[in-house]
Amino acid sequence: MNRKVVSGNWKMNLTWSEAQTLFKDLTSELSRQKATCRVIVAPPACYLSGLAALKSSDISLSAQNCHQEPKGAYTGDISAIMLASMGVEYCLVGHSERRQNYGESNELLSRKVNALLASKVNPIYCCGEVLEQRKSGDHFKVVGAQIAQGLFHLSADEFSNVIVAYEPVWAIGTGETASSDQAQEMHAFIRKTVAEKYGEEIAHSTSILYGGSCNAANAQELFSRPDVDGGLIGGASLKCDDFTKIIRSHG
Ligand code: PEP
Repeated sequence: MNRKVVSGNWKMNLTWSEAQTLFKDLTSELSRQKATCRVIVAPPACYLSGLAALKSSDISLSAQNCHQEPKGAYTGDISAIMLASMGVEYCLVGHSERRQNYGESNELLSRKVNALLASKVNPIYCCGEVLEQRKSGDHFKVVGAQIAQGLFHLSADEFSNVIVAYEPVWAIGTGETASSDQAQEMHAFIRKTVAEKYGEEIAHSTSILYGGSCNAANAQELFSRPDVDGGLIGGASLKCDDFTKIIRSHG
């Protein structure tokens, strides 16, 4: 599996008409010149089946969230089984906006991960420290705990389906990017943590993405670092030109 990935997170943006235009533009750009990385987009859930029907072989679809239970009286929620039944291949888990706005804990996220893997949907597991934790030097401890508590109950086989996205919360949507040294340092730490649990081979094949104000101007520098396998892109994934430049930043 190609370790290099660029994934867009559209969050709660775009009308259906705008979403189709962006998806179609990306599809034609990628059919003109193939990407060297896996390309994933995570649109709002209500657009997933419509975009799946457009059938782009160069773009995989991701959900932004799912419920931990397979079905039931959970008004407004979507299960992993439903995502799988629409051909959705990936799902974000534990984005900092969900951790902060909905109080999603590592324990809850571990159950979402289980639900996704049971439906053969690949989790993109988000982790990252807030500014105070970085300032107090606790960032490795925080990220290590997020990963251990959310993922380390998995078997090695199960874990090999997970993508990890390191997103320092202070860099998300703020225009302040982690330096490539800061990103590399944390990504190397994450890979070492995975190696200690699952061994070198699995750690070596795990995709670890950087997210947080990554854009067309800084992606190349970030992706050039040995443990940065690509990006989870918010704002800059909403414009075809910018997102394409980020995809092309992979050598
Ligand atoms: C994100 O929300 O995952 C993200 C990285 O956002 P932005 O690129 O806008 O900082």
